[in-house]
Amino acid sequence: MRVNILGITVDTYSMQETVEQIGQAIASQIPIRVVTANPEMIYASIRDLRLKELINSAEIVTADGIGVVWAARRLRTPVYERVTGIDLVQALFPVSNAGKWRLFFLGGKPGVAEQAVYRVSSEYPEIVCKAWHGYFNSEEEPHVLEEIRRFRPNLLLVGLGAPRQEYWISEHPRLASVSIGVGGSFDALAETVVRAPKRIQDLHVEWLYRLWKEPWRWKRQTVLPRFVFKVLWQRFFQKTP
Ligand code: UDP
Repeated sequence: MRVNILGITVDTYSMQETVEQIGQAIASQIPIRVVTANPEMIYASIRDLRLKELINSAEIVTADGIGVVWAARRLRTPVYERVTGIDLVQALFPVSNAGKWRLFFLGGKPGVAEQAVYRVSSEYPEIVCKAWHGYFNSEEEPHVLEEIRRFRPNLLLVGLGAPRQEYWISEHPRLASVSIGVGGSFDALAETVVRAPKRIQDLHVEWLYRLWKEPWRWKRQTVLPRFVFKVLWQRFFQKTP
């Protein structure tokens, strides 16, 4: 089931269901795209119709963050829970380990994804991981693509930042059974960026913690009140946006 939030259709799946869907795609080897849709991305898609089209055509669109969970509830089709990029990636590790999946980490500053691979491999030794940084230019891109193809990943995690990673994934289909845009997840995995303590995450104010730690993000977060306004507008004045 999907809920239409400002024209973006978001799956109501729980984390467990999302992981199961990904597992099925890997077993059947039919390539799928996963988008973790946050309020910024949903808001940007109002103007960026290509982004809207490529999010809506993704096989799985998760509710990335409490803002999207709130919107779904307001629009009377609640999602089960939030499924953020980093939480999804972490939920996939034990399954990847059990299935001995091949994971390619693409993105982050040079050294960061490698560090993430190092940490993940020491905890989940059965996962076969490879990394490449996300600061390649168009001349270097064919080489990066060749590295990925040669590695034949089951799961391709692309952390180039939104929406660039969503465009990149849709421009390069069939590199893996499952491709997911994961934003700054490698920074969190490599611990170059520290996530909010669990208690703060559970209070659903991780975004506030992030704003405190990375104040330069405030400009990006000004989208939140506009997102809230548009959702309430949709709720009260529109049947289908
Ligand atoms: N990044 C990258 N290549 C670029 C620009 C950014 O690999 O050309 C990476 C950056 O190092 C960071 C991630 O993309 O790891 C973006 O993180 P951010 O938290 O801003 O993304 P979000 O999760 O908000 O989409």
